[in-house]
Amino acid sequence: MPSMEGQTARPAGKQITSPDHHLQNEAQPGPTNTAIEGENPSSVWGPLSDNGSMMPFKYPFSLSHKEIDSGGWTRQVTVRDLAVSKEMAGVEMYLTPGGIRELHWHVQAEWAFMIRGKARITAVDPEGGKSFVNDVSAGDLWLFPGGTPHSIQGLGPEGAMFLLVFNDGNFNEFDTFLLSDYFRHTPKEVLAKNFNVAESTFDNVPAEKLYIFQSELPRPLEEEQKQAGDSTGNVDGKFVFRPSEMKPSKVTAGGSVKIIDKAVFPATDIAAAIVTVKPGGMREMHWHPLSDEWQYYVAGKGRMTIFNAAGAARTEDFQAGDVGYVQISRAHYIENTGTEDLVFLEVFPSPLYQDISTAQWLAHTPMRLVDEHLHTGEEFLKKISKDEAIVVPL
Ligand code: MN
Ligand code: MN
Repeated sequence: MPSMEGQTARPAGKQITSPDHHLQNEAQPGPTNTAIEGENPSSVWGPLSDNGSMMPFKYPFSLSHKEIDSGGWTRQVTVRDLAVSKEMAGVEMYLTPGGIRELHWHVQAEWAFMIRGKARITAVDPEGGKSFVNDVSAGDLWLFPGGTPHSIQGLGPEGAMFLLVFNDGNFNEFDTFLLSDYFRHTPKEVLAKNFNVAESTFDNVPAEKLYIFQSELPRPLEEEQKQAGDSTGNVDGKFVFRPSEMKPSKVTAGGSVKIIDKAVFPATDIAAAIVTVKPGGMREMHWHPLSDEWQYYVAGKGRMTIFNAAGAARTEDFQAGDVGYVQISRAHYIENTGTEDLVFLEVFPSPLYQDISTAQWLAHTPMRLVDEHLHTGEEFLKKISKDEAIVVPL
């Protein structure tokens, strides 16, 4: 007998799956936030297969506090917002044309995805002490290893909107090592000795942190690359990856996926997949044996059920701007429930991408044995493809 736990609150004998069913109001007479419920039909009346208790695994960036500065704004979703997201955190940031995210570093690695506009990014390569200066535009990625100092500046005409992902749920964007803080909190005589100049050189170090601030547009890229890399050279493209220049890792009639891990982007210790699912299509049932998965919904609408041990399962709905989170080895699918393409990012705190496809698992197990568990008949099992689809063919 399947457990009926968690289903007792539903009206007996009725399978209610539609959020606008008239019984919804009768069964739930109290105050209700109709806008939020309208966006989350799977929370209001989830599929009857949902069961038991599971931590929420969705957090919309729209609920995050937005920190606004002269050169742009930022907001974050961390383990303090989404309790299940222990291994990863994310930040959305917008920089105006000329707006600068102050030179800084942090303990965690930073993986980034450009959403809109253009930016100039800089870093110093910890391996060879060489300069990295590059321009990125919509769709490009970058990766700065933990401890690597870097900066981001918005370019014209629209500035830069991007996503940052960190391999630590406890990351705090408002708590990084800032260049201005660093110099302000080092004795002036030490600064003078370190650089062998007069103490007065540091008289104008800002009295407050800069963090995000408005500036002029940078100088031409070639000029800044040449000056910063003079005599030691540049590391060129080491920390940047342009998915637009790679072929999809997998294409089916239902969508496509680009997998970007250490195998194609050697600088990264954070693997990712960019997934596109057509209307009616689905990212197939699977799980990831190496690490948790942090998701960002770029476009469209979808729903995801996560299956946990002990028969627990929960379904939540997602749309552009939402964060989703799946713990290591928990099975899940993502179905396009909208009318346009669903585009989302899967990001992993692991250098390599790996998944287990449910279909592939069954196809590679003696069908006699599987049939003894699922009672589907061997004809069905014989037809399952031995190749992983990733996105179910429509
Ligand atoms: Mn950073
Ligand atoms: Mn996944």
